[in-house]
Amino acid sequence: MSRLIVVSNRTADLESSVQAGGLAVAIGSALEETGGLWFGWDGNIVDDGVEQAPNIVQHNNATVATVPLTRSDYDNYYLGYSNKVIWPSFHYRLGLLDFQTAFIEGYRRVNAMMADHLAKLISPQDLVWIHDYHLIPLAAELRKRGVTARIGFFLHIPFPPPDVLVAVPEHDWLIETLFAYDIVGFQTSWDVTNFQRYVLDQANGVLKAGGQTSAFGRTVVARNFPIGIDVDEVRNMAHTSEAEAQIRLLAQRALNRAQIIGVDRLDYTKGLPDRFRAFRRLLELFPDNVKRVSLMQIAPPTREEVAAYVDIREELEGLSGNINGEFGDFDWTPVRYIHRAIPRNTLAALFRGSKAGLVTPLRDGMNLVAKEYIAAQDDDDPGVLILSRFAGAAEDLEEALIVNPYDLDDVANAMQRALKMPLAERIERHHGLIGRVRTRDVKHWRELFLRALRDTKQQAAA
Ligand code: ADP
Repeated sequence: MSRLIVVSNRTADLESSVQAGGLAVAIGSALEETGGLWFGWDGNIVDDGVEQAPNIVQHNNATVATVPLTRSDYDNYYLGYSNKVIWPSFHYRLGLLDFQTAFIEGYRRVNAMMADHLAKLISPQDLVWIHDYHLIPLAAELRKRGVTARIGFFLHIPFPPPDVLVAVPEHDWLIETLFAYDIVGFQTSWDVTNFQRYVLDQANGVLKAGGQTSAFGRTVVARNFPIGIDVDEVRNMAHTSEAEAQIRLLAQRALNRAQIIGVDRLDYTKGLPDRFRAFRRLLELFPDNVKRVSLMQIAPPTREEVAAYVDIREELEGLSGNINGEFGDFDWTPVRYIHRAIPRNTLAALFRGSKAGLVTPLRDGMNLVAKEYIAAQDDDDPGVLILSRFAGAAEDLEEALIVNPYDLDDVANAMQRALKMPLAERIERHHGLIGRVRTRDVKHWRELFLRALRDTKQQAAA
């Protein structure tokens, strides 16, 4: 079996399985099986000019090699081009794009630096799997250094339509570098179509059977590989005796009230202000929910050094304060907003104890919370998933209540429908959803991608 090499902006801690999600575990076990290597940033920031030699640690049969970033790498590659240019624009939010020339220079520099270290660790027979938007040009940098191994890329975030993408400074260079891969994987067929449209309209490319896409004198396979979760992990966490106790406590506190839950990183792509407004609409349109239903929103902070994230935090705090001030009473708080990370097993218990899961991003690559909410439900008394049509998960999860997150009345009506849905309909919808989430789980995703990568032909040496 070929050795697997995984590269991502951050590596996971293979020693601590407590907070590691299904993705880290699935990748970790593939590395264990093949004696593989995980390469990425260690999360540390060092002064400019400090040498960035890899730190190599062995975990059983797998190796983790990490490098620090310098302060200017962090500012320009990570906060800059990755999170102020690619992240907003690939989520269709050009208004939040904030470009400086130093950003693209930092992005190129870090990808080149990583390739310098990584090229020495790769053998021709290895399978190299590079993850996400921070590292798009990494294969091109590796090829420049003579790497002939098969290299696949998976984009965890959406791929925007060409009309949006052409506003990204250096988009032509960025997309050309994708052609140094053997396979480029996307979350949904919508992303593949957007990529193909760019290739046809902007790069004079050609599409052939089996996802073969040719441009810039090279051919890659471009396909969707929707990512999944570890269903049993979430299910088991939601059914421990500790979880049972938490759910009982929740039920006692809530008396005969129902809870709607949202769990998201505090990111402007997640549609949180609109979600809060839609909850207000629910209380206005259907006043029987006053004192009967509450929204629990768990939203840990991320990327707080980017101004747009500070803005969204302030907006959300204002909105929850307004709704609670207007509708709340001494014995009822309509919106409970928790601004920190919660242990995964508590999250699973909260999912199970909530009548509806509200997943309403304005745009999302996949959205694993939607799948986790489904996995945590009781088969004989499941809650209802309300899902944005703009989450990648909506391509698959058609039995959810699919909503337009920009239409507050639509979302409020879906909440009301979820709260009133008869048991038989809830069971029927859940049955379809859990079947699909289970079949297309994280292991299936990993196997599908690696099989497709293995099936490509190795590059000829230059
Ligand atoms: P994204 O990758 O954009 O953050 P996803 O929904 O695909 O969105 O994945 C988020 C992951 O982070 C899920 O596995 C979810 O359970 C986890 N998560 C989200 N919020 C929290 C929180 N407050 N505490 C712990 N884990 C969280």
